[in-house]
Amino acid sequence: MRKQWFIVLLVSMCSIACVESDSDSPNAELGNTARGLASTSRAASATFDAQRAFAILEKQCEFGPRPPGSAAHKETQSYLFTELQKHANSVVLQPHQYKTETVTLHLNNILAEFGPPRSGETLLLAAHWDTRPFADRDPKPENRDKPILGANDGASGVAVLLEIARVLKAHPPPRRVVIVLFDGEDYGRSVENMFIGSRFFARNLGKWKPDYGILLDMVGDKDLTLPIERHSWNANRGFTEAIWRRAATLGLTPFQHRLGDAIMDDHVPLIEVGIPMVDIIDFTYPYWHTLEDTVDKCSPKSLEVVATLVISIVYDGL
Ligand SMILES: [Zn+2]
Repeated sequence: MRKQWFIVLLVSMCSIACVESDSDSPNAELGNTARGLASTSRAASATFDAQRAFAILEKQCEFGPRPPGSAAHKETQSYLFTELQKHANSVVLQPHQYKTETVTLHLNNILAEFGPPRSGETLLLAAHWDTRPFADRDPKPENRDKPILGANDGASGVAVLLEIARVLKAHPPPRRVVIVLFDGEDYGRSVENMFIGSRFFARNLGKWKPDYGILLDMVGDKDLTLPIERHSWNANRGFTEAIWRRAATLGLTPFQHRLGDAIMDDHVPLIEVGIPMVDIIDFTYPYWHTLEDTVDKCSPKSLEVVATLVISIVYDGL
């Protein structure tokens, strides 16, 4: 992802509305329905195993840096595909080639489908599974051509979604959920050669289009700070604020109800084709695009915080 600098404006946001259900109220039936969904959401949240998610983060890092074209990239793709097959209705690769000035990349998005078949609402859950080929933000100049491990920048979002895949199998969701793991997000030195997989995905949707989606990127660091990402808010303000209000209702304090930076990331190509997308990203991570983006900088608790929010949206809706 890339940061876009804007003058930070403080904005006032609407306060959180708490609605209490009341069995004597005219909305008693609705309240009971909401309680039923909430109990499923609680059961699903309890099924999410933060240690298991963290082990998935570690497993990806054990392959080493995972930039397109590397052996580790191939091994990781195989691992992710196999793991998703254990839980999803179906898993497919979305292969595509991308030519730079010097090389042709062979990339694959990985898509996994859960829940009821193609009818009703579809929620897209996204992350990128490739890692950056060079640590161009490393404080040591001699490291800046070396590939990063991407414990947070890459592996964290994938870890949350793979563990959620297991939860979705145990607790079938009330809406269709598609997990997409994008390739080629972090490839280029400039934005022209980044977000390759998400751009391909957005261009090749055909008649199908998810109703809304959540992108996870850099969600595993120990000191998790998640302000509202500005591109998400600019494009779909009501949707984005609903996500952060839900986080507040759930008591997830790393989600900060204030506007943060505008980050170029995989959600932007999808927003451009009309899909409401929210990017959940911690851009205060000091090890971003350095060789220090390693497992010890991440925590199971952070993965769990983000998973709790996503699971609530999956089972309770917006
Ligand atoms: Zn990155």
